Amino acid sequence: MVKALPAEFYQTFLSDAAKERKPSPIRGLYPLEAKPGVISLLAGKPNSTTFPLDGVKLTARDPSSSSPVEIEIGGAQLQEGLQYGPTAGLPCLLEWVYGLQELEHGRKKGEGWRASIGSGSQDLIYKAINAIVNPGEPVLVESPVYAGVLPMFEALHCEMIEVDTDAYGISADSLRKVLENWPASKPKPKVLYTVPYGCNPTGMTATQERREAVLALAREHNFLILEDDPYYYLYYGIGARAPSYFALEAQQPEVGRVLRFDSLSKILSSGIRIGFLCGPEPIMTVIDMHTAVASLQTPSLTQTITYAILNAWGYVGFKKHTESVSQFYREKRDVFESAMKKHLNGLAEWTSPEAGMFIWFKLVLNSPDGEDDSEALVRTKAYERGVLALPGTIFLPNGRKTAYVRAAFSLLPEPDVNEAVKRLRDTILDARQA
Ligand code: PMP
Repeated sequence: MVKALPAEFYQTFLSDAAKERKPSPIRGLYPLEAKPGVISLLAGKPNSTTFPLDGVKLTARDPSSSSPVEIEIGGAQLQEGLQYGPTAGLPCLLEWVYGLQELEHGRKKGEGWRASIGSGSQDLIYKAINAIVNPGEPVLVESPVYAGVLPMFEALHCEMIEVDTDAYGISADSLRKVLENWPASKPKPKVLYTVPYGCNPTGMTATQERREAVLALAREHNFLILEDDPYYYLYYGIGARAPSYFALEAQQPEVGRVLRFDSLSKILSSGIRIGFLCGPEPIMTVIDMHTAVASLQTPSLTQTITYAILNAWGYVGFKKHTESVSQFYREKRDVFESAMKKHLNGLAEWTSPEAGMFIWFKLVLNSPDGEDDSEALVRTKAYERGVLALPGTIFLPNGRKTAYVRAAFSLLPEPDVNEAVKRLRDTILDARQA
């Protein structure tokens, strides 16, 4: 049995806004309805017999067989999907999450953590940041960083302290330097944000050694780790995968520093908007209170549909499915990289990603001032030639110049990849001659 950090530990980690949050006066009483024999006049739930939906029929691929699996949602399951439900998520889907986390990360339900379902992981990341960070506080972010979190920290006027990354993921040395040189007069950062598998934008995956060193620093310097891991199931590297931070922390004397964000967006559907967060109870409570005020809950029907598919597959089917998805992206990576090797030899530099859907490459423009910058080239010159990618600067917390570019290889068929990379080559050659 692992030892969990006590509830009081989180007092210094909760933001002022979080401390002000109150449970919803009505939602907080819902569990009372479950007592046998109670006649409830409590909830303002509409009468679902008036809803004009009598059944949902789905056809899903079956990862364990060549014929599809037909799923019918009706009766009590449909009623649950059509009605308001618990703030943290439908019990059936939560139970599935508990089973998954035990299988994948060796973390048992109730041992110092619990889960909540969100409208994608983005929803939960936003709420977690608001639960922890006060306006103006410093935060540790890997750099380059997922551009989707920058506006969250910017809105709070946070000082983003960049932690370097390289081909082995986040640099524990860079993190150690930041922390060891931290001015004694300044409050220390409370969180580190990192994407450990197939990082968006760099495509890099952190090694186990790095992860262990980062966890040790979290203990030593007392901060929480926001492990944003939507590309976990898109790992296609050779050899065993590194354990998650969530798994690794269970090997420490105490658990409770890792908040793990999972997403079904890359493996089931991005439009279905289902993600889940696993973390310590005091922070989960605040996040659920945020949800109860902001949207009441993640839609029941998408949770019901998600659960129906996952339940029909079982964990074995889920595993098979994710393996085939990661194989799909491995092939996409290979196609993109072979086009790069063919057309960008000497014009760009990159490290091959082992997970996810991004290639992060450095343009070799040979600028006379020695400071290559991808911004103008990507935004205008490449676009004029008919190819669109993202300039690296948008992934840097301070928006400084960089020669890097992010390309997503998830969608294009091979002929388009070749054409896109050729157009990039022509743009770079033009720029080098200018
Ligand atoms: N984190 C990262 C690193 C991402 O790349 C994305 C999706 N672009 C998200 C979070 C949000 O994913 P979701 O669809 O689960 O909200």
